[in-house]
Amino acid sequence: MSVTVCQICDTPIDDGYTLCPACELDFALLLDQYVPWTHALEASLDATLHPGGHQPTRIITPTAPTPLRLDVLDHLDLLASIAQGLWRRLTGVNILKWQRDLCPDIIGCLTDAAMHSNLAKIPDIGMYVSQFQRLKPKTLAIIDPLDRATPIGQCLTCGLTVTATRDAETVTCPVCGREQTASAVRLDLLERSIRSGKAFTAGECARLLRGAGYRVSVDTVYSWKHRGLIDPSGRNDKGQPVYRLRDVAARLGHDTPDD
Ligand SMILES: [Zn+2]
Ligand SMILES: [Zn+2]
Repeated sequence: MSVTVCQICDTPIDDGYTLCPACELDFALLLDQYVPWTHALEASLDATLHPGGHQPTRIITPTAPTPLRLDVLDHLDLLASIAQGLWRRLTGVNILKWQRDLCPDIIGCLTDAAMHSNLAKIPDIGMYVSQFQRLKPKTLAIIDPLDRATPIGQCLTCGLTVTATRDAETVTCPVCGREQTASAVRLDLLERSIRSGKAFTAGECARLLRGAGYRVSVDTVYSWKHRGLIDPSGRNDKGQPVYRLRDVAARLGHDTPDD
């Protein structure tokens, strides 16, 4: 007798299921995240809009812009076909009631799928989870351009919050004028966050650690949680689990490769 295991994390689960409750919840939340992302992608289609974060603002371009961004159109098509594939898989096809096979739009497919009672039961769910995970970086790259300056920590002299683009090597404090390396500012923030015992979401932990040069992704943090190597210390006001950065950083030294 073989034991049924979750297709994502290998946790033993009840017969008839293909995902454990934690991975089902993670996947449903990922599908829900695609709702605002799809709106942002549709807003990014117009090439005259400057996509700054999730709230695009119109800019005047020096040359006449292409009316549509074809890369965004392709990406939306791909997202639509995967979302509709999942929706058909969940709702089934009934040739006698063919109207049922007419999918709603992307948003409808995503929200139907996220709430569907068979989500943790369909046999090829692992494929859908990995498809949506693979689409995530490209989606975020379109709606959250890399060259946006974001807060990276506090000035090492005066303590004011300083911002930098992702690739900037040095930053100059707008108040005291001190020029400092972006990595020193990020490392200082990381050290103070660890010492304070403060807790952050998995994504925030990964971002803080990556900012200081560690190679750790949000998926790594989730896998540590699934494997019981770290425990959430509570939830933030949005209900997301939060982890002490100290605990996450402590795992970095002695992780074993995922298999
Ligand atoms: Zn699982
Ligand atoms: Zn300063």
